[in-house]
Formats: sequence, structure tokens, C-alpha cells
Amino acid sequence: MVNRDEMVMAGCERCGTVHAGQLVIDGGLKLIGRNGCVCGSTEFVVVEDG
Ligand SMILES: [Zn+2]
Repeated sequence: MVNRDEMVMAGCERCGTVHAGQLVIDGGLKLIGRNGCVCGSTEFVVVEDG
């Protein structure tokens, strides 16, 4: 069960920059406060903490 308000670390698949992100109910991942990475990518993966 995914809490749609759960904050995660979102790593850019293209350049590896890590942003504050949020899981969304459809299984995706969005950034908080911005539409995409500084490199222009909108593909992110959850960066596991530890
Ligand atoms: Zn990037």
C-alpha cells in the first residue's frame, strides 16, 4: 500500500541528481516543487535510504 503523501528521494535516471520526490498513486514518482530534473529528464527512480 503506497501512501501518496510519502516523501522519497528521487534519483534522476539520466544524470543521477537526487531530488526530493513523492510517490503518486498510479505508481509513478514526481518531484516536489518542480516538473523535472535540471537535465530535462522526467524519469526518476526511488533512491533507497541505506
Ligand atoms: Zn537529471
